[in-house]
Amino acid sequence: MEELSGTVLVGDSFDPVRGRVVVEDGRIEAVEETDTDSTDIVLPAFVNAHTHLGDSVAKEAAVGLSLDEAVAPPDSLKHRRLAAADRDELVSAMRRTLRFMRRTGTISALDFRESGPAGARALREAAEGVGVDPFIFGSGDPSVLDVADGYGASGANDDDFAAERGACEERGCPFAIHAGEPDATDIHPALELDPELLVHMVHAEREHLERVAEQSVPIAVCPRANAVLDVGKPPIRELLDHTTVALGTDNVMLNQPSMFREMATAAKRFDVADREVLRMATAAGAEIAGLDCGVIEPGRRAALLVLDGDSDNLCGSVDPVSAVVRRATGMDVERVVG
Ligand SMILES: [Zn+2]
Repeated sequence: MEELSGTVLVGDSFDPVRGRVVVEDGRIEAVEETDTDSTDIVLPAFVNAHTHLGDSVAKEAAVGLSLDEAVAPPDSLKHRRLAAADRDELVSAMRRTLRFMRRTGTISALDFRESGPAGARALREAAEGVGVDPFIFGSGDPSVLDVADGYGASGANDDDFAAERGACEERGCPFAIHAGEPDATDIHPALELDPELLVHMVHAEREHLERVAEQSVPIAVCPRANAVLDVGKPPIRELLDHTTVALGTDNVMLNQPSMFREMATAAKRFDVADREVLRMATAAGAEIAGLDCGVIEPGRRAALLVLDGDSDNLCGSVDPVSAVVRRATGMDVERVVG
């Protein structure tokens, strides 16, 4: 048994409670209000809802490039770099990114992995023993589902993904697809595929939002990547009013995969409450991937993040949720549990 004391951000609404979380056999046994001297802040560990870990081999290589030049399949800079990287180099680069993610409080990432079954296998190998569990949306032939957890399609304007969608249906695993990143033309075609997850939706309009609500499709938004690639700002407020919205850091090539940075951007540049942002970084991604974490309550998996609330950075902050969302960095992390 283990106890984590301090200000605990409890339940769906992250209510700050002075007390402790009791952990036993990897699960939250109890959440107790009690006197404590601890200045720690205890919150759910992060679930990053959209990454491309493969482009750990191309950091900063796309500075100044457009969306098409940087990441569009099959001939963009990213795909040329992936083709040129040898397997050991790729596995090692992804492994180091995963280690960075763990140190910055993330315990799972919903990753779109390029390069078919071999790509998915390389990511599984990279993640062994690191403490970040990738939920892999594979690519290529539907047989990738022998290795991956679901299928991740580049976009409905790139190809016909009916066979891949059907294969996911047969196997009972999720089909995810990028939509509405450079413009709105691929949003209805993506929704036709009845996906379990849409990524981006920067250009979602009312007709798309209504359909998203009708079909109950969750959305991963990646505001920093959208800013770097200059495709616009996702309508996070409107998306939240229609469905579950989770936060992702997208291409490792473009941004460091720190959920602290993504949360601060979402909170400061969009019409979203800090608690909503924290939910987007924890429970929302967990729900999409079917993980039993992201909320501190008895019975849940104990995937927890402990911050030093009295660090030089966080000391004196008036609201622990706002401190976590707007100010905290990897340097404030004391421990990641689970
Ligand atoms: Zn993506």
